[in-house]
Amino acid sequence: MLRGLQPPEDRGLPSPKIHHVGIAVESIDDALSLYEDALGVVPALRTEIPAEGVIIAMLPVGDSRIELLEGAGADSPITRFVERRGPGLHHIAVRVEDLEASVERLRASGRRLVSDEIRLGAEGYRYVFVHPSSAGGVLLELIEEP
Ligand code: ZN
Repeated sequence: MLRGLQPPEDRGLPSPKIHHVGIAVESIDDALSLYEDALGVVPALRTEIPAEGVIIAMLPVGDSRIELLEGAGADSPITRFVERRGPGLHHIAVRVEDLEASVERLRASGRRLVSDEIRLGAEGYRYVFVHPSSAGGVLLELIEEP
């Protein structure tokens, strides 16, 4: 096995996992009908997050999820994203064991976070976003579950 593919737990490190993949859509209702047809799944959660200006639906996919994001209003970041780039892949969320430690390491290496503080998500998990300019062009969400 390639050394880089050795599971982190075998090296005494915590094992990060893909928590969800975020997809920006024009309409959650339209997107849900696609995923219901394709995967036969229904959302485990559907809610509005006023602080982020989004409506989300979480679709369970194995140990992970697909997060559908629809902008809630004209000034929503998701509305602007869809206007500029069209619907599509928006971010990747990875679960980490110790979010504070990750944030400290990122700050120490000069990487840019989207917000200054760790925020509290819809399902009680805490999260931060690493700006795409500091994350290889990918909007990276780091999540710590309660
Ligand atoms: Zn997310």
